[in-house]
Amino acid sequence: MTPERYAKIVRVLSLRQPTLSLLMDEVNKPHNFSAILRTCDAVGVLTAHAVPPKNGVSGNGLLPTFNATSGSAEKWVAVQPHASALEAVATLQAQGMQVLATHLSQRSVDYRELDYTRPTCVLLGAEKWGVSDEAADAADANIIIPMFGMVQSLNVSVAAATILFEAQRQRLAAGMYAERQLSDAEFERLSFEWAYP
Ligand code: SAM
Repeated sequence: MTPERYAKIVRVLSLRQPTLSLLMDEVNKPHNFSAILRTCDAVGVLTAHAVPPKNGVSGNGLLPTFNATSGSAEKWVAVQPHASALEAVATLQAQGMQVLATHLSQRSVDYRELDYTRPTCVLLGAEKWGVSDEAADAADANIIIPMFGMVQSLNVSVAAATILFEAQRQRLAAGMYAERQLSDAEFERLSFEWAYP
């Protein structure tokens, strides 16, 4: 471990945002899963959440494997598995997170209208089916990225990046990257684990 490497670990952990997360509901394509994790790392998500895919082409009840698209982000962003989207939404809400489902419904609003400086988890749906109506109903809000083209939806990793970088923009403006958000204990534990994996 060089001093430069350790300094980088300290710098990155000092920017981590434990109150910003996302939940992938049965996202099953490894390249999408990997690309989303890479974006999580870039904006400072500490822990992502995922419901393993149960059906569909590569659905086997396990989290998708990572591929080169991740840029090794899986080493730096923990993934917490959940049994179902409804369980995950309830768990995250009980932890004080607002859950924002990316879902078109009567109550959907433009994703830029939300306050991402609040503890927030963005719920993303499976490539084929999107977010279920039940999970969208359980969420605190439904958000959409307005689109004006012929195609009806974005790739899930593109949608994740668009929303997470809006969260990053708001949190930067609020000074949330200027002060370490991790507790001392968490910071010390993770700096040791990252330095000596
Ligand atoms: N057929 C699916 C449906 O009807 O929802 C399409 C799912 S889309 C390919 C996969 C995921 O990307 C969605 O569940 C959502 O999480 C995200 N997504 C795609 N386009 C979006 C948009 N315009 N606004 C918000 N999220 C979007």
